Amino acid sequence: MRVSADRDVCIGSGNCVLTAPAVFDQDDEEGLVVVLTSDVEGPVADVVRAAVARCPSGALRLIEGQEPPAGP
Ligand code: SF4
Repeated sequence: MRVSADRDVCIGSGNCVLTAPAVFDQDDEEGLVVVLTSDVEGPVADVVRAAVARCPSGALRLIEGQEPPAGP
């Protein structure tokens, strides 16, 4: 599973960082989400699902499966 974040939508609440600090961080300038590792599996994937559910802005997106990322 992959997780991606839309920083244009993120409001910097930090919920994802509190829920899954191994996967998410916030930048020092604006406090917006930074995805530390986008490929998540097993127990980490379950924590990431919880983080996505707790994001108040809908900035986080899950991509199930092993599809490669789009784009160059
Ligand atoms: S929980 Fe959502 S709004 Fe809050 S920092 Fe994470 S991505 Fe941004």
